[in-house]
Amino acid sequence: MPDFTPQTVFVRENAMDYPLGKKLYNKFKESGIDTRIIASRGPFPLNPNVSFQKKFIRAKRTVVVSVRSLGQFQSCKPSAHYQLPLVTGCPAHCHYCYLSTNLGKNPYIKIYVNIEEILKKAEKYMEERKPDITIFEGSATSDPVPVEEWSGSLKRTINYFAGTKLGRFRFVTKFSNIDSLLHIKHNNHTEFRFSINSSYPIKKFEPTTPSPRERIEAATRVFKAGYPMGFLIAPIFIYEGWQEEYGILFKELKDKLKTSGKGIFFELITHRFTKRAKEIIEEIYPNTRLPMNEETRQFKYGQFGYGKYVYPPETMKKIESFMRETINKYFPEAEIKYFV
Ligand code: SF4
Repeated sequence: MPDFTPQTVFVRENAMDYPLGKKLYNKFKESGIDTRIIASRGPFPLNPNVSFQKKFIRAKRTVVVSVRSLGQFQSCKPSAHYQLPLVTGCPAHCHYCYLSTNLGKNPYIKIYVNIEEILKKAEKYMEERKPDITIFEGSATSDPVPVEEWSGSLKRTINYFAGTKLGRFRFVTKFSNIDSLLHIKHNNHTEFRFSINSSYPIKKFEPTTPSPRERIEAATRVFKAGYPMGFLIAPIFIYEGWQEEYGILFKELKDKLKTSGKGIFFELITHRFTKRAKEIIEEIYPNTRLPMNEETRQFKYGQFGYGKYVYPPETMKKIESFMRETINKYFPEAEIKYFV
């Protein structure tokens, strides 16, 4: 079963010129999904007279199969050198998701069919930077796993990077349907990261995503497949019982992975929000209990010119020392890449 079955699929006419475009058209159609070929450019044949919230929800169930225009790749500092555009969007409904601000009211899930051209372009960047390694991030504007069962794009990309000398690929997911990626040649050139959290935030703020247990089990399979692995603990929340719950998370991870942490890394990101994100979130998820009270946070200017509300310094210190101690306890050899 795929992680995600769209309600509607639009295939751009020019996408049908590519093998992946044809394959996707046939696969979606044969699965009984409403699949239509539409003009290569222009708006989608959808009723525009619906509320922001309805548009948003509709877009999350709509896949657009399209050709990615090959301008410059966006840079992706500090986690990679460039974004690798395979997919845009994600069907899940995490209340805090940065894509709600980035993709606006129509966060369609776009699958790009000109994957061979995209990889060729990546090769040019590697050529420019040689003899240095060039790292590409596959999840800067998406979670690419929910549509992987349909597209096979990650599989092709992992295989491709396995064969390059100076290219590396990384991506992060919350989804557990990753078995099609387990038995392929990766040559340690792809870094597989899972975004995990304690059970309260997953239950309350990440509807339609796999449970902590499903993610940990998927991560264990990936670990056994020998991929370089990391865990993104994000966003970290303070709530009643948070230490106990995060402690359980790390213990479960340890019980499953059975490792001292050698070769594993953690990235730790506390919850933060911008004014704009708060407005959008409240409109899309009016009943959310996401903690967004400015008065309990510290305002901090961000690098892109807008400010964000983060936990105050004392709370940050408390979270950081708890997280570091707990990770060291269970995974003494793991690397903690950063805490923000
Ligand atoms: Fe956003 Fe990731 Fe949640 Fe998808 S899974 S909605 S990309 S936070």
